[in-house]
Amino acid sequence: MSLGEFGLIERYFQVKQPRQSLTQLGIGDDCALLNIPSDMQLAVTTDTMVENVHFFANVNPAWLGHKLLAVNLSDLAAMGATPYAVTLALTMPKIDEDWLQHFANGFFALAQQYQVDLIGGDTTSGPLTLSVQAMGLIPRGLALLRSGARVGVLIYVSGAIGDAGLGLKILQGYISPNAELPLSRFHLPQPRCRLGENLRGIASSCIDISDGLAADLGHILQKSAVGARLDWDKLPLSAEVQQYILQTGDWCLPLTAGDDYELCFTVAAHNQHLIPDNCRCIGIITAELGLQIQRFGRKQIFTGKGFEHFS
Ligand SMILES: [Mg+2]
Repeated sequence: MSLGEFGLIERYFQVKQPRQSLTQLGIGDDCALLNIPSDMQLAVTTDTMVENVHFFANVNPAWLGHKLLAVNLSDLAAMGATPYAVTLALTMPKIDEDWLQHFANGFFALAQQYQVDLIGGDTTSGPLTLSVQAMGLIPRGLALLRSGARVGVLIYVSGAIGDAGLGLKILQGYISPNAELPLSRFHLPQPRCRLGENLRGIASSCIDISDGLAADLGHILQKSAVGARLDWDKLPLSAEVQQYILQTGDWCLPLTAGDDYELCFTVAAHNQHLIPDNCRCIGIITAELGLQIQRFGRKQIFTGKGFEHFS
């Protein structure tokens, strides 16, 4: 049986009742209608994933549905926005109902967790390409920008970093005795939405780690026109990543590997006591531009591709 576009949306993506009281009209008309309270701002982001570019062709579609939504919610988290609604655009070579059912299951499980409404979308025929536009709400003026880091404030990171990068290395052939955590961190990233909300008014700048700590912190440094000194020895690393570094000597992994979707943010010292325990202070913002790494007492300079010993 072949499903037309309407039947496909109806069967897998129709949400009978909008969850958010602010959603006036969801899927089913030419546009959705969202109400925005006057004391709030709407944060909007979009992210696209293309087969063989952003994900492997044989990946579990439920994981893909989760990750597509997670990476978008992560951008909302990095602004301090509370997830509100999303639209979904699917381009598929053919209609594979089994694939769609699993994809929708993964997508909606995460959507449910954060009470986010799917309010519209589009399906077209072509190479497998998945796009989400996500919208979130922030009390007016409290968005966490990349441009707010000032000299002397502290740099924090949530959770642990490098696990997703190690997961990718495992998929590419690296043999790890404990593959479960890194693979799960790679396939099923957890957006730090609650943390982002809790950092409103506390963090002076924030970004989510999608491309690697060094690159993403680099965006904060650039937008804030400051530099940073990171203490490598303070990076929160799982036992799996520590073991990988011991085995391979590749200590740059937690700095350069992406896909962790943790938050990196800056905080003034007087707000440090407000930061949750699962976040770690890893460095300080400096007037001297560039990113310096202090590792076992040696200074390293980030060159864009990797690190060089400072000479
Ligand atoms: Mg981002």
